[in-house]
Amino acid sequence: MVSRAVRPVALMVIAVAATLGLSAPLTPNNAADAAGDGYDVGNWTDPNGKDHRIRWNPCQPAVTYAVNSRQSGNTSAARAAAVADVKAAFRRVSNRTGIPFSYSGRTTEIPRNSSKESWSSRQKAAEIVVSWVNQSRPKFRSNLLTNSGSGYASGVGGWMMRAWTDAGGKWQAAIGRGFVVLNAGHNNLYQPGFGKGTTRGALLLHEIGHAVGLGHVGTTKEIMYPTMLSREHSRYKSGDQTGLKRVGRPLGCIPGASDAWPQI
Ligand SMILES: [Zn+2]
Repeated sequence: MVSRAVRPVALMVIAVAATLGLSAPLTPNNAADAAGDGYDVGNWTDPNGKDHRIRWNPCQPAVTYAVNSRQSGNTSAARAAAVADVKAAFRRVSNRTGIPFSYSGRTTEIPRNSSKESWSSRQKAAEIVVSWVNQSRPKFRSNLLTNSGSGYASGVGGWMMRAWTDAGGKWQAAIGRGFVVLNAGHNNLYQPGFGKGTTRGALLLHEIGHAVGLGHVGTTKEIMYPTMLSREHSRYKSGDQTGLKRVGRPLGCIPGASDAWPQI
């Protein structure tokens, strides 16, 4: 419900893909991160020159998410395990950001752009939709997962932000929709859970990290490194943890976000 005039004036999206790191690591894409910090968060500069951290409003009752697990496994048990991993990943993101997430159930929606509409306006199941896709079957394909020339990435995650002015003319901005798309063609390359090796859990932590505003880093030890690597433990590392804090609850509420973004 819109209780007062809101003028959403800016729409932005970022989507970044993760590749599987069986070959040589990719060249670090962020020199500053390679130097030390180990996390990457974004700012949007408003027309008055003020910077706003690109993030969800952590004070909304919950950020909802739904899962399309249809292509995540061949048996109902395998698909249930995939959904359990998604839930576990969101719990970890919530612990690190302080943002509450709420599971809305399974969906048949697949985040994709149409010729007329962005994925973010098409999304009805939840504020974040996590979906496995099958790029060789039109019905289960997503154009958000692009082919770099050497094949499709393992996953992609992104968000949509809106900015608006409040009654006093002050700018506000918030993410209000997100997505995670996972390549079912790579299912057999990722082990279920969050243990040792190259895991589905790590891939989910990485892509959900994007959906809450994190970018890639150049340090291989972090989950937000753009290539998925075999690891001793599939969990957020120190730089990832700092980044999640800096898109989370410690930054405070974003007034008017629920007007700019109707909750699903
Ligand atoms: Zn990525």
